[in-house]
Amino acid sequence: MTVIENHPWLIPPWERLAAAARQRRFPHALLISGQSGLGKAAFADELARFLLCETPVKGAAACRRCTGCNLFAAGNHPDFYTVSPEKDGSAIKVDQVRRLSEDLAMSSHGGGFKVAILDPADSMNINAANSLLKTLEEPTDNTVLVLVSANPGRLPATVRSRCQQVRIPVPEQNMAVAWLKQQVDTDQLDVYLSLANQAPLRALQLAQGNALEERARRFQALVGIYQGRQDPIAVAASWSKDEDLTGLRWLREWLMDLLRIRLTGDSRGIHGIDLAEGLQALALQMDCRVMFGQLDSVNRALQMAGSGINRQLMTEDILLAWPARTS
Ligand SMILES: [Zn+2]
Repeated sequence: MTVIENHPWLIPPWERLAAAARQRRFPHALLISGQSGLGKAAFADELARFLLCETPVKGAAACRRCTGCNLFAAGNHPDFYTVSPEKDGSAIKVDQVRRLSEDLAMSSHGGGFKVAILDPADSMNINAANSLLKTLEEPTDNTVLVLVSANPGRLPATVRSRCQQVRIPVPEQNMAVAWLKQQVDTDQLDVYLSLANQAPLRALQLAQGNALEERARRFQALVGIYQGRQDPIAVAASWSKDEDLTGLRWLREWLMDLLRIRLTGDSRGIHGIDLAEGLQALALQMDCRVMFGQLDSVNRALQMAGSGINRQLMTEDILLAWPARTS
């Protein structure tokens, strides 16, 4: 089974690209988009392996036996390039893109394609994106640029318009549940899928990390701050250890749920179905204006998260402004 066969929702976009490769009309630039947790990176990786394979199986999959496949598996293929932020959460810089353009301007070592993956492409700063634009406008022969992004709207339109769009679809619920059942043993698959916006790999990650317990603990901390039982600074210290700002992302969802409950009067349609009761109870006690203010702060914080900002101070600011019961 290939990576693609193992993730059945990846098969349709894969087949379209494999057909283009067989007909020798493969685009020189692709933009692979889709929400996080669908396997975009694995898809891009497998695509690079396939394009660099010397003897693809039925023209549709990498053989995993040829010199190209062996070099790729060893991480040594001379015609394969990846560009990512040097530090997690920082930007792809113009120097990195310039270096890539120079490499791609040389002829290929193996005589076939040269493939470059930029992931996440939307982390390119504006100078980097402008530099890439030149490469996109004057592509060299047999070069394939693969841009990967969960937020393609953040890329300049000039870059987007020069790439063929490949959207990784969110699978149907049945397919996602069937797939998850093979991976993890839990009776809460529906809840995990809902928390993951139906993205199976994200749901799997949440299930494996016992996210329901962790979410309940985090939510109780917020209730604790509200009731004056917990110190916001201590809570911020533990939340700021999250690598991907999980605490703040959950807080954003909870604020949207709290507002939804306040504005519609009930908890139908909320995202945090695992915490419906607690959200309902808290919503009734909180002030809408304060919640909107908090939502603004959290959104701003999440937007700035990649810019080297001090996470602990940022999280403290938000949690210190979290309301406390006055009576
Ligand atoms: Zn091969």
